[in-house]
Amino acid sequence: MRGNSHDSSHPEVKDQGRRTVDWLLHSADWLVTCNDHMICLRDGAVAIEKDTLAGVGPSEKIRQQFAGLQEWDMTGFLLAPGLVNTHVHGAMSCFRGLADDLALDQWLFEAIFPAEANHVNEELVYWGTLLSIAEMLKNGITTFCDGYFFEEAAAQAALQSGARAVLGQGILDFPAPDQQDPGRSRQRAEAFLKNFPHGHDRIRPSLFCHAPYTCSAETLQWVKGLCREEEILFQIHLSETRQEVLQLRKKHGLWPVEYLDTLGILDGLTLCAHGIWVNPEESQLLAQRETGIAHNVGSNMKLAAGVAPIPRFLSEGVKVGLGTDGCASNNDLDLFGEMDLTAKLHKVYWKDPEACPASHVLKMATTGGAQVLGWSSHIGSLEVSKKADLMALDLNSPHLVPLYDPVSHLVYSARGSDVCHVWVDGRQVVSHGRILNCREEEIIGRIKKITQKLGSLQ
Ligand SMILES: [Zn+2]
Repeated sequence: MRGNSHDSSHPEVKDQGRRTVDWLLHSADWLVTCNDHMICLRDGAVAIEKDTLAGVGPSEKIRQQFAGLQEWDMTGFLLAPGLVNTHVHGAMSCFRGLADDLALDQWLFEAIFPAEANHVNEELVYWGTLLSIAEMLKNGITTFCDGYFFEEAAAQAALQSGARAVLGQGILDFPAPDQQDPGRSRQRAEAFLKNFPHGHDRIRPSLFCHAPYTCSAETLQWVKGLCREEEILFQIHLSETRQEVLQLRKKHGLWPVEYLDTLGILDGLTLCAHGIWVNPEESQLLAQRETGIAHNVGSNMKLAAGVAPIPRFLSEGVKVGLGTDGCASNNDLDLFGEMDLTAKLHKVYWKDPEACPASHVLKMATTGGAQVLGWSSHIGSLEVSKKADLMALDLNSPHLVPLYDPVSHLVYSARGSDVCHVWVDGRQVVSHGRILNCREEEIIGRIKKITQKLGSLQ
């Protein structure tokens, strides 16, 4: 079987000076490294030792150096780094399609917040996050950055599934599903950090202030203070609608990025989701502070929030990753779709076919994502000594033939459903399009049961 044929029946061959590793994936039609030079190789191979890439390069060379306990012939496949989803609310998959075609403030205050207040509990977060992870892993997303409530349950889902994740406990100055008294949100955040599962370098804790219009200056500052103490990522929604920017200008006399900078919030471990209404002075400030942006193009378009100045961000050196946002505003978790939209939207909007070329977009979905999460020394590209997070796409589909440029294919032609095998931390988590660590049928059954009551909200 393609992608599954191992020649480990000749163990004696392996001892002839070759280093034994756990996996040797060889003879891939294409190997897309996403390294600094965006090197793509024909007939490529990777060697995986425990959780790490021990070898990346031409098949002939890698096969001379390594013998795999599992050796797979990847003829007909493309190997690439796992994608990095920098902004998602995993449990919101339970609200997929619940309230479409509304403006953001109406969608948020009239549909989502009431649904969350009435229905979000630990059980919904656990199963909803697991549903999202199943979808993401099958779509080649190996790392996701989450922000929601009952985030302990999301951490359990991430641990069980084998995905890599940054898990942000949500904080706002209103009663939240897991904290009715906003006056106790600091204790809630501290308890989350204290109880976060230790000894797993695949998952990292984070704190997520919902937005400057739902969190006071004081809240933003103590949350960022806690993040600094713990050296963890601070997340926030920023400048998503024009209206919120005008409100903030009226209240504080500052643009949102200036406002956060005045409060001392901006640094390399702050990640702002959206950043649509950011002016040129603000983007320079983001670049200076090394603060990242999560670009959620599908969600921005669906909520008619606006077009983020991505080409300007990139030319000014602002770090940008791609995100799907939650399922309620997208309505799927497929970064292939987001890459395609990102490349095309910015061309038409800026009337420039060279705005956001495919290579820039693929970088945003891989190394750019790793950078904004503060994880780029370990993930985002296929390079020796980085974590073995990768995907194998089956190239034998009509929409992927012929193949002249694998980067173009990943952005413009491929879909999440082309992903066949996925590894995270050196462990296979998707095989032949099926998730391995959880039972998909069970997740779907649980979600159908949990969401039965939600349909009546429409
Ligand atoms: Zn969001």
